[in-house]
Formats: sequence, structure tokens, C-alpha cells
Amino acid sequence: MAVIVHRCTTCQHPDLFHSDRADGTLGPCSYGLCREPSHAFGPPEILPTWRPATLTGPAVPDPALTEPGTRGTGLGALCGCEDCWALFHAHASADDGAGHVAAVA
Ligand SMILES: [Zn+2]
Ligand SMILES: [Zn+2]
Repeated sequence: MAVIVHRCTTCQHPDLFHSDRADGTLGPCSYGLCREPSHAFGPPEILPTWRPATLTGPAVPDPALTEPGTRGTGLGALCGCEDCWALFHAHASADDGAGHVAAVA
């Protein structure tokens, strides 16, 4: 289950690691490496994830891309901005026919 994130240009952590503010913007990184208002977020990028091929086997890439804006991934709410959707669709069309893209309606 790969996800699309924006990486913080200050601490390099994904936006998922930054606390949500009431106004919808992102606060400091949960590791305390960046503090407002000094951080910004770069363009969306795909964060790869891994899963075990068997119960005790090595991890293999899990290429299924989670839709932007999805909640309840265990990672917090994903960003659902236009740039994220554009990247999602670009990735989905590139993978057409390979059966790798999760069709989550
Ligand atoms: Zn940060
Ligand atoms: Zn976004």
C-alpha cells in the first residue's frame, strides 16, 4: 500500500508526520525537527511500502497506490489536493494492465 505524501522541505519527513492544526494547515513535525513557520512542503511524491511475501519471508514492494484523501490507513489522513490526484492518475495510467493499482472506490 504505497501512499502519496508531500515531503517537508525542512525536516524531510512526510506531511503525515506533522500534526494537524484546527485551521487545516500542518504544525510541527512529530519529531520536533521543524518548527513553524519555517517549514514548507514540496510537490507530492510516492512513498513506497513493503509487505512480507510470506509469513516469515522477506519483504517485497507493495505497489498498490492508495487514493489521495484516504483516511484510516494507519498513517493518518492522506492529502487529497489536486497535485496528489494528478500524480495518482499519472501513476495509475502508467500501471494500466499490470494489475498493480488498487481500485478503491
Ligand atoms: Zn517538517
Ligand atoms: Zn497533496
